[in-house]
Amino acid sequence: MKILKCHCGEVEAEINIKNIEQVMRCNCSICKRKGAIMSIVKNEDFKVTKGKSKLKLYQFHSKVAKHYFCSDCGIYTHHHPRVNPAMTGFNVGCLEGIDPFEFKDITIKDGKNHPLDKK
Ligand SMILES: [Zn+2]
Repeated sequence: MKILKCHCGEVEAEINIKNIEQVMRCNCSICKRKGAIMSIVKNEDFKVTKGKSKLKLYQFHSKVAKHYFCSDCGIYTHHHPRVNPAMTGFNVGCLEGIDPFEFKDITIKDGKNHPLDKK
């Protein structure tokens, strides 16, 4: 179990994961701006335990993906990706006891050339 907290602490979530093994960044229009290192679990393994009402939803383009951030401190907490809304991507920098700068092997996802945008 890992605990995720936004910067101000209004939003908290519990993630049912033992170790963070796969981390990624993404070059799509929103992720390149956020710059967060992310990991991913199934929706049932991610539970917002505090501050649900503080979370703000942001959507753009196809409006399938759901990007959440704390409306007080502005920090990105988690999202449901367009390719798989049954998964929750989350901000590794928000996890207690994890230093996101310690990961050496970071996958770069090519969200700029999104598979669902290809005709
Ligand atoms: Zn906050």
